[in-house]
Order: sequence, then structure tokens, then C-alpha cells
Amino acid sequence: MRRLLAGTGWKMNNTVAETRRYGEWFAEWTAGRALSAVDIFVLPPFTSLHAAATAFAGTPIATGGQNMHWLESGGWTGEISAPMLLEAGCRYVELAHSERLQHFGETYDCVRLKVDAAMKVGLTPIICLGESASEKESGRADAVLADQVLTSLAGQPDVATADVVLAYEPRWAIGGAEAATPEYIAARHAALRQVLRQHRGARAAEDTRIIYGGSVTPENGKEILAIEDVDGLFVGRAAWKPEGFAKIIELVA
Ligand code: PGA
Repeated sequence: MRRLLAGTGWKMNNTVAETRRYGEWFAEWTAGRALSAVDIFVLPPFTSLHAAATAFAGTPIATGGQNMHWLESGGWTGEISAPMLLEAGCRYVELAHSERLQHFGETYDCVRLKVDAAMKVGLTPIICLGESASEKESGRADAVLADQVLTSLAGQPDVATADVVLAYEPRWAIGGAEAATPEYIAARHAALRQVLRQHRGARAAEDTRIIYGGSVTPENGKEILAIEDVDGLFVGRAAWKPEGFAKIIELVA
């Protein structure tokens, strides 16, 4: 049985002060609630990570970084490493978000190195996968997704894939007005699981959690979560305020 996940990436939002308030709100909201059957994560900007880990201590909410370098230290101005994320209290790290690929020129060869570095220190990578609008239009979505996931995991032949999270986030649905349709999501998630089955074996296909992101809201989340191969919701805008994230968690828990 795959444990369901509810997560939010804050992108460039929520200062230290706002993070503390978010945490205080959740300390109250989570108290006495049965949330032990699901995994919940928040991905704050780097400057708020430590405050977030402190604020969420004692709640079921784990924290993670939105990116990292693949090396441990060195002359890499503006970067941070896996051990630094660990020290800041992180359990997860998001890799390959489409905004990183689009605006900062990251590639999946780079993502593969980051997956290796994260797993080496025990961080759970959340690997984002997604086709562009033109790849979708030309019917290449599944081929693109297969290539992305296989490249990302190439350095981990024996990975217990329960230790990674795949986040299917069609690029054209991120930050938009609407999520992909349930039929479309179902087809992509099933295809991804088939790629895992074919290349990594039945166990990996069964164990690996594949969550959906891209314009998820408390309103459409229930229908998306009901899709067979969807193991959780990954939310941006709708969860930047605690009240919104609480509504998402309620759908999953
Ligand atoms: P969104 O962002 O929910 O605001 O579309 C999703 C994401 O970028 O992960």
C-alpha cells in the first residue's frame, strides 16, 4: 500500500515571519487530528527553511528544499547542498521543477546527479516530471515523461523506489487556470507506472508514489485524488496560505 501524500511548494513566497505564522496556525490545526496515515510536506524558500522546521516540529508536517546542488560544498555561489538541507531540518528535496528547467536551464542529466546526492544523505527526492504544451500537442507526452524518469533514476539501479516521490506536473497546467482533466492525468500516471514496471520491475511500479501537481485546488483535488494511480496532491498557489493547505490535507487524510 502506498501512503498518500499532500505537499506544497511555496516557490518565492512566505518570509520567515510569515512562515512562523503558518506554522503556528498548523500547530493548532493539526493538534488532535488523525494524520498519521499520510505524509505531508511543505517546501519553503531556503531562507525560511529553518524557521519552518522549528515551526512544524511536533506536527506531522515535514519540510524540504525546492532545489539543491549535487556537490557537498565548494565554489558555487548562490547554491546550497544536500547536507545543508539536512542540517536545516529537511526530509525532502524537490528537483526538476519546470520553473527551474525553464528559467535556469537545468537538465535531467543534472537532476540525475542531484537525485544521487540527495539519496546519499537520506533526503527523499521529489522528482518533477512534465511535458510542455508543444510536446503534448504532438503526442509525445508519454515518451518525454519516460525519458525524464529514466534519466533521473539512472544513477540508482537498486533504488527502493519507495524512497523517491515522482511528481507529474504537466508544464502547461502549472500556474494556470485549470488542472489537466482527470482522464488525461489518469493516462499519464498509468503510463509512468508502466515505465517503472518495464524498466525497474513490478515491485518498483507498485511502491513508487506518483503525485499530481498543476493548478490543484481544494475544489478539483478530490476528483484528481480518486484516480487510481494518483498517490497525492502537490499544490502551489492554493496552499501558500495555511487555510488552503489544510483543505488539501483534508482531502488526502
Ligand atoms: P500551482 O503550482 O498549483 O500554482 O499550479 C504547482 C507547482 O508548480 O507545483
